[in-house]
Amino acid sequence: MAHDHDASRHRIATRAIHAGQSPEPVTGAIMPPIFQTSTYVQAELGADVRYDYARVSNPTREALERNLAGLEGGRHGLAYASGLAAIEGVMKLLSAGDHVVTEENTYGGTNRMFNHVLSRLGITFSFVDSRDPDQVRDAMRPETKLVYVETPTNPMMRLCDLEVLAGIAHEGGALLVVDNTFATPFNQRPLEFGADVVIHSTTKYLNGHSDVIGGGLVVNDDPLAADLAFVRKSTGAVPGPMDAWLVLRGMKTLAVRMRAHNENGLTVARWLAEHPGFEAVHYPGLPSHPQHALAARQMEGFTGMVSVELGSGERAKRFVERTRLFALAESLGGVESLIGVPALMTHASVAPDRRAFMGVTDGLVRLSVGIEDVDDLLEDLEAALKGL
Ligand SMILES: *Cc1c(COP(=O)(O)O)cnc(C)c1O
Repeated sequence: MAHDHDASRHRIATRAIHAGQSPEPVTGAIMPPIFQTSTYVQAELGADVRYDYARVSNPTREALERNLAGLEGGRHGLAYASGLAAIEGVMKLLSAGDHVVTEENTYGGTNRMFNHVLSRLGITFSFVDSRDPDQVRDAMRPETKLVYVETPTNPMMRLCDLEVLAGIAHEGGALLVVDNTFATPFNQRPLEFGADVVIHSTTKYLNGHSDVIGGGLVVNDDPLAADLAFVRKSTGAVPGPMDAWLVLRGMKTLAVRMRAHNENGLTVARWLAEHPGFEAVHYPGLPSHPQHALAARQMEGFTGMVSVELGSGERAKRFVERTRLFALAESLGGVESLIGVPALMTHASVAPDRRAFMGVTDGLVRLSVGIEDVDDLLEDLEAALKGL
């Protein structure tokens, strides 16, 4: 049976396993070897070689990139050393004087890169609430090159309308860039709504096993892909082959893991919403979420990310220190459940007034619901709440 190189016509669970994958030509190995090499021997001087140096290209990394592109339904994938390296790879398409319209509630590290690194290099940013397309439209300038958003956002689970924002960006001659780390391509594929660049921290759901730092981009446009590859080759933020292989291995089970995360996330969110011990619950899959209709239109599932208001920093601290299965840790998207207080952890680098503005209170607790038995997770939350 011929091996299917082009899995693009298949459904996503099949694409996760087969997209861009073919047996290794020498042995027929079904998994791509880990090409742990820095360089490749050339048969003669000046020959036109496919591989010359591993910063530029590596077959293990390329297997990951084809799979990532296949999952997002795009033509080109690029892998990076981290999610932030992938974001930096996009931002270095810009020059001093260029302007970016972005969401005020992005990942804390993204906010820090924009405000404390890229601003020094002469790139300017307008931070808006991208739930409201008018705010994005009003912030556009002649020198605006990118509209940069996340949906859902971390940790407030706000959404933006990708189709509407793609229209606004393109009308202004800018690209729409979407960090799809929270949703994953299993639940949301931004290119289908007109986005130009999709970003991932593969550290999270795509790798899924909390054992790698990595990042990736997916685009459709050929010249844009070439520009991004040029920046990456010229700045060097590539993943090693072992990490690329681990992420690829993780992505093959994306569909089964995300079904379980979606199911457990919804069950935990419903339980929190009905429990008198908690205040507001933020989860796009709940009908009480103010943008639930948009979520249902734009997403196919709502992930394992839930945030909940405990009312005070003291209560939040005691709660996250009392759970046993939910481990107190940064990060998200692994098979095991994690818990944290964004104001003191992921968003500690965001100024307190900006945090308050975003709704990231000291009493807000963020859960990354894993794929354990959900009854054990609910018992853990109930036990932690008792005697707070
Ligand atoms: C973690 C994360 C990043 C940064 O990725 P790293 O792999 O940690 O560099 C960017 N965006 C989002 C939404 C994230 O959750």
